[in-house]
Amino acid sequence: MALSLSRTPAPVLFEKVLIANRGEIALRIQRACREMGIKTVVVYSEADADAKYVRLADESICIGPPPSAQSYLNVPAIIAAAEVTDSQAIHPGYGFLSENADFSEKVEKSGFVFIGPRAETIRLMGDKVSAKLAMKKAGVPVVPGVDGALPDDPKEIVKIARQIGYPVIIKASGGGGGRGMRVVHAEGTLINAVTLTKGEALAAFGNGTVYMEKFLENPRHIEIQVLADQHKNAVYLGERDCSMQRRHQKIIEEGPAPGIPEKLIAKIGERCAEACRKIGYRGAGTFEFLYEKNEFYFIEMNTRVQVEHPVTELITGVDIVQEQIKIASGFKMELRQKDIVKRGHAIECRINAEDPTSFVPSPGRITAWHPPGGPGVRVDSHVYTNYFVPPNYDSMVGKLLTYGATREQAVARMRIALSEIIVEGIKTNVPLHRELMDDAEFIKGGFSIHYLEKRMAKLAERTRGER
Ligand code: ADP
Repeated sequence: MALSLSRTPAPVLFEKVLIANRGEIALRIQRACREMGIKTVVVYSEADADAKYVRLADESICIGPPPSAQSYLNVPAIIAAAEVTDSQAIHPGYGFLSENADFSEKVEKSGFVFIGPRAETIRLMGDKVSAKLAMKKAGVPVVPGVDGALPDDPKEIVKIARQIGYPVIIKASGGGGGRGMRVVHAEGTLINAVTLTKGEALAAFGNGTVYMEKFLENPRHIEIQVLADQHKNAVYLGERDCSMQRRHQKIIEEGPAPGIPEKLIAKIGERCAEACRKIGYRGAGTFEFLYEKNEFYFIEMNTRVQVEHPVTELITGVDIVQEQIKIASGFKMELRQKDIVKRGHAIECRINAEDPTSFVPSPGRITAWHPPGGPGVRVDSHVYTNYFVPPNYDSMVGKLLTYGATREQAVARMRIALSEIIVEGIKTNVPLHRELMDDAEFIKGGFSIHYLEKRMAKLAERTRGER
């Protein structure tokens, strides 16, 4: 048989990747690249010029002053940096430009590979109305509500709310970061709430489209990690429970999710993988669900690597960032669903530079940094003694993870790790994490997304009473 000459060449790994991010995730991506023998280019703002990971990079380029708008969100500067360094691909990390479809499009048009999904996928998932519709079509369960945007006619709106049943939640289609949402408990306040949310959405996201769904009163936040390649292979890597939140910001994540039967996870995981195949998803992604009374309800998809990805890495042994890079290089995933076995339990505590009770950010110089160690401990952090935490960005200074054969062992190791960690010069939320590791509800597991805020409110009331 004659050999076909038109066969596409076998993929080769990138030789040089530009990291368009900062902090711990820039270091995490850099480590993945170095292990794979890939050269790294780090772009940085003037505020990050002294960071150690900047010096560890093969090449580094300053892209602007401290404000994100002039540096980490400065698209022309990032593309120019890729050009002058002959980078082949750009890893966006999380936050900043990672879910910006226009950026990914510009990256690809300029001749580089964007390490993430195609621009049209980011766009589809970035709009909550279109994402929900697409997921419903792909067989992923969504929160009960109406398909599509709310009409203008108040009578229609009232009718829709009655159909769904109170309480309902009005959400901005272009919303993000926990903003652009309003809960309505009774008809009397409905129309006003819709008008207000529309106005806010238009001002904040430049898109006044809103939709309505059932408000779930006591859900847990459970998410499914997926990986999909460019050859229609997709797998799910199990779940993470991220219910410990304040103002929709995750504080502790863990996996597996306590008390949820494996059969249910497998069923929803398979649906997510199938949805990836259907929409031609590429790369790493997360399907976020609210979980109540044994049912999953899709709320959104994150089309990037997440802060809490190491939880899954610890229990599956899969290096998610390396998989992202291999997939973007064009490789077929070697992983098959049957190869993905969850073992043991992992917990992640986000260490933030902030006051542990008021949550006010606490940037400044770290005068002492002693990370913990020992069996089953992983610390993902870019900071060190004498590091200056700039006030310009997110307050997270690192992630402390522990792994154990059981949840009890992971919690016990986390207690020890939290007792060993020393961070001086700035305030951190370590005291809060120490308290939570001894909290009866946390130890039991399976609390709802409102647990932390309710606990804080109770504590505040008690201190008021004592005064
Ligand atoms: P964002 O993109 O702003 O993070 P999400 O759609 O992911 O918005 O919702 C953020 C949070 O809002 C959820 O984690 C949950 O706490 C709450 N929420 C959203 N939709 C509902 C709902 N239908 N019922 C109850 N809570 C909800």
